[in-house]
Amino acid sequence: MSQLRFRVVEEAFKKKAATVDVPSGRPSDYFGKFVFNREKMFKYLPSAVYAKLVDAIDNGAALDRSIADTVAAGMKKWATELGATHYTHWFQPLTEGTAEKHDAFVEHDGKGGMIEEFSGKLLVQQEPDASSFPNGGIRNTFEARGYSAWDPSSPVFVVDDTLCIPTVFIAYTGESLDYKAPLLKALHAVDKAAVEVCHYFNPEVSKVVAYLGWEQEYFLVDEGLYAARPDLLLTGRTLMGHEASKNQQLEDHYFGAIPSRVAAFMRDLEIQALELGIPVKTRHNEVAPNQFELAPIYEECNLAVDHNMLIMSLMKKVARNHGFRVLLHEKPFKGVNGSGKHCNWSLGTDTGSLLMAPGKTAEENLRFITFVVNTLMAVYHHNGLLKASIMSATNAHRLGANEAPPAIISSFLGSKVNEVLNHLEDSLDEDLEALGSKQGMKLDISQIPELLIDNTDRNRTSPFAFTGNRFEFRAVGSEANCASAMIALNAALADQLTKFKAQVDALIAAGDTKTTAILKVLRQCIKECKPIRFDGNGYSDEWVEEAKERGLDCETSCPVIFDNYLSESSIAMFESTGVMTKKELEARNEVKWEMYTKKIQIEARVLGDLAMNHVIPVATEYQSRLIDNVYKLRDLFSAEKAEALSSMNVKLIEDIAQHTIYITKHVDDMIEARKVANRIESEREKAIAYHDTVAPMLEDIRYHIDKLELIVDNQMWTLPKYRELLFVR
Ligand code: ADP
Ligand code: MG
Repeated sequence: MSQLRFRVVEEAFKKKAATVDVPSGRPSDYFGKFVFNREKMFKYLPSAVYAKLVDAIDNGAALDRSIADTVAAGMKKWATELGATHYTHWFQPLTEGTAEKHDAFVEHDGKGGMIEEFSGKLLVQQEPDASSFPNGGIRNTFEARGYSAWDPSSPVFVVDDTLCIPTVFIAYTGESLDYKAPLLKALHAVDKAAVEVCHYFNPEVSKVVAYLGWEQEYFLVDEGLYAARPDLLLTGRTLMGHEASKNQQLEDHYFGAIPSRVAAFMRDLEIQALELGIPVKTRHNEVAPNQFELAPIYEECNLAVDHNMLIMSLMKKVARNHGFRVLLHEKPFKGVNGSGKHCNWSLGTDTGSLLMAPGKTAEENLRFITFVVNTLMAVYHHNGLLKASIMSATNAHRLGANEAPPAIISSFLGSKVNEVLNHLEDSLDEDLEALGSKQGMKLDISQIPELLIDNTDRNRTSPFAFTGNRFEFRAVGSEANCASAMIALNAALADQLTKFKAQVDALIAAGDTKTTAILKVLRQCIKECKPIRFDGNGYSDEWVEEAKERGLDCETSCPVIFDNYLSESSIAMFESTGVMTKKELEARNEVKWEMYTKKIQIEARVLGDLAMNHVIPVATEYQSRLIDNVYKLRDLFSAEKAEALSSMNVKLIEDIAQHTIYITKHVDDMIEARKVANRIESEREKAIAYHDTVAPMLEDIRYHIDKLELIVDNQMWTLPKYRELLFVR
């Protein structure tokens, strides 16, 4: 009966590491081989066109349509030399993942034949027939279509036989239908606002760039075992499965060597990532068995997001060549750690300063404190929104569990920065005026450079931690498009910096020196945003209580958390920074609620099917065997003796009956609850109904299935067990 399960386990066990095609030369030789980077632009484009394109990339200058044909021709020449025959506009719809539609480089030549062609028009703009992408009602099938438009700041690249062109995806009426368009706007807003504030310290700054370094966590599962688990296949996570007797308590995996089949996968992935210009650097085992992490060197935020999207699809592809499936779901297995995507984020200037890092001079340190405090203010005022930006049906399993940041946003700063902020908070007006008037500004915050070496007090439980020269947003989910978090964070900071500048300017106009004005406003901000600072244990129950008292958003229901996007303060912030309009926010929330509902709906269906088609039949068959045994004991022995001998089996028969009755009844109830929820018109209310009524049943039913897994004969159990999924490779 369970032949398949045993066969796939055995096959998985026997698999050897696949061979990896290692290109000749060093990584620096093949880095960016498939990317139309500056070196290739220079080679394939006339120099005047090259200069215009670089200007568009670096300074956001509008791309001159007259050069588009030449750029397209150069790209096509380069891409066809690499074997490309097709091109695609590559975009990031509101579903997770990327979308693409491939077209061949061919056109009629007008003489009955074909010519290879790729015009500037096709490069710059397209109308993908994308009516089925979620749009929250902005662009329904009967209305105007959407179009995709090239984002020259992210270079085009070749994957297999296709030239991929990173694009934004916008409705004809102008609303964004993707993640990239609002991200670019948020990055532009933070650039503008931060440059203004930088001018207090250095008038030469003309551009501020947001950086992102993501750390991608994932699980690998042998593909045979994966295929034998319909829940993994259809929902990305296990909806049932009793914990293995051993899981992660020994932490032997975290410290252990990377298994050879996995090492081959990682090597292959890294080579292909480097060829695509993704600067991967770090790899290691993670805490849970079969869990791993991959991280590149940080890059400009928009490019880093594209690279993360690209590597997620690359991981899926490469894993298959190694007989694995990669699981990007935030919580594929109950009882072991889930996967996140820590987003290391900072700002830097075109004059070479990192704004979230302390400097050598008092002036640089005041700038550092300015940016840290403004970040805290943004995170404080928009803590609910930031939580919404990382929330999803899948990440909800991870947040709040004792292994990931809680579902409350707070910020860890470490003792040194705290000391400085506390000191500033307690300063009197006279102190600040004295500091501001001193020649050369001998601030007693000059001890800050010590921070650089003080990297020891890290707090793993904080969702938004300062780590020396950056903040690490740890609540982001492994499967998510990190643009969502980056849009909210950068837009919120842009808004805050603009307000900060207005306050400082007002004080200067009233007669304060620049330094005194900055210090006074900072002092005010430090007082105001105090509730967001928390260096204690974020996993503790006391923190939840305290956070409530501090007025932080403690909501745990995913669909209700999405409401934060539509709060007055969020709408005002997104509109004033020009990142999104109320209409866009409303439409995007419709999509979020709808996706939430669909995910739970699919899980409920899959669990119902598995329960009825796999679990109940197997449990009943085993139960019949036990019953058979009881009867045979009666035939063989006296009534009294038979009763004594069969008492254990009788108990098991009853236990199985209890569990199967519970499961059958609740699968029915779950179908009923879905029917009720499905009749609800409003997407928000429907998602809430799914959250409140359907989702808890998944857990209840699972509990009984997992109990049966322990009772039923191992030989008969059809679905691969946790010990196999997590330890066989
Ligand atoms: P951890 O110890 O938290 O695992 P790592 O050393 O692995 O940290 O680095 C995490 C990520 O942080 C890497 O992608 C790295 O490039 C990135 N990073 C380092 N400095 C910065 C910075 N100033 N801004 C943004 N990202 C950064
Ligand atoms: Mg980290």
